[in-house]
Amino acid sequence: MKPVTRRNFLHRVPVALSAAAVVTACADSDPDAPSAVSGPGGPVVISTWQHGLAANEAAWKVLQAGGNALDAAETGVKITEADPEVSTVGIGGRPDRDGIVTLDAAIMDGAGDCGSVMALQDILHPISVARRVMENTPHVMLAGEGARQFALAEGFTTTNLLTEESEREWKKWKAENPGYRPPINVENHDTIGLLTLDQDGHLAAACTTSGAAYKYHGRVGDSPIVGAGLYADNEVGAATATGWGEAVVRACGSFLVVELMRQGHSPTEACRLAVERVIAKNPDYREIQVGFIALAKDGTTGGYCIHPDFDYAVYTADAGNRMVVPDSKIPRNG
Ligand code: ASP
Repeated sequence: MKPVTRRNFLHRVPVALSAAAVVTACADSDPDAPSAVSGPGGPVVISTWQHGLAANEAAWKVLQAGGNALDAAETGVKITEADPEVSTVGIGGRPDRDGIVTLDAAIMDGAGDCGSVMALQDILHPISVARRVMENTPHVMLAGEGARQFALAEGFTTTNLLTEESEREWKKWKAENPGYRPPINVENHDTIGLLTLDQDGHLAAACTTSGAAYKYHGRVGDSPIVGAGLYADNEVGAATATGWGEAVVRACGSFLVVELMRQGHSPTEACRLAVERVIAKNPDYREIQVGFIALAKDGTTGGYCIHPDFDYAVYTADAGNRMVVPDSKIPRNG
C-alpha cells in the first residue's frame, strides 16, 4: 500500500480568484492508473483518497465473510478514523482554529435510514456514534455537546484526538496567521467517504472527517449532511464527496450524483455533471477542490473532480484493490 500523502497545504501559493464559472478544458489522467472501472454487481467497495486502500481492505473482509453493506461501510472507515497518520480524519485530524479537534460523520443505508454527528469532540469513532443515532434514536443528526453526551451514554469512552504533531502544526499555523483566517485552498481536504455494495445488492455509504483544517469552532462541512457528503439509494446507487464542504453543500452534491444516475447517467458522468453544478454555484472554484465518487447498483463505479490531485480506491472481485485517478475539470497544468 502506498503511504498516505501528507499535504503541505499551508505553504501553497494561493490561486487568484476567478470570476468565470465556465471551463472548457477537460480530461487529465495518470497513465499508470486504470482510467475506468466497472464490475458486474457486488461486492464492490469504493472510497476516497489513498487512505481508502486500507479502508477498502477492511470493508471487503466484511463483505467476503457474508456481512452486509452497512457493516462493511462502518468497519472500513473506522480504519481511517483510528489512524493518527491521517491528518484529515479521526485521531490526528487537524483541529479547528482554537486548537480543538471536532469530527463530523454520517452513515446511510440504501433503504434510506441514516444518522450523523457533527462537531463531535473526544470520541475516536464518530461513524459508530452516527450509526447509533440512526439505530437508537428517533433522530438523524446530533451536534456538538449533545452528540458527545449521547456517545458517552451509549458507552463510548473519551480519547484525546489532538496528537502532538497536529498540535505542533496548529501552533505554527497560528503563529504564521495572525489574521486567524482558516485556509481555503485546493489542498485543505481528504475526508474518507466509502461506498459499499453487498452480495444481496444492498448499498451503504459512510463519510467521516475532521473537516477543514483550522475552521471556525463549530463549523460543520458537507460530510455529516445527508445528501451533501453522502447519499445511498438501493434503487439507483450511492455517492460521496470530498473537498471544500461549503461548495458541496451549495449543490446538494451527493444527492445530485444519485439523482443524475437515476436519470440514466453512468457513475462517472453523474459525478462530472455534479462537479459542473458545483462550479456553477461557486465562482471561486479554481481555489477549491471538490471530488465525487459514485457506485451504481449494478456495481459500476466512477468519479470526477475539479482539480487533478484527487484519486480514489476501488475493490472488486475481478481486479482487487487499486487506485483510480479520475478525470478532472481543470487539467493538470491548467
Ligand atoms: N469535505 C470535508 C469538509 O469540508 C473536507 C474534506 O474532504 O476533507 O469538511
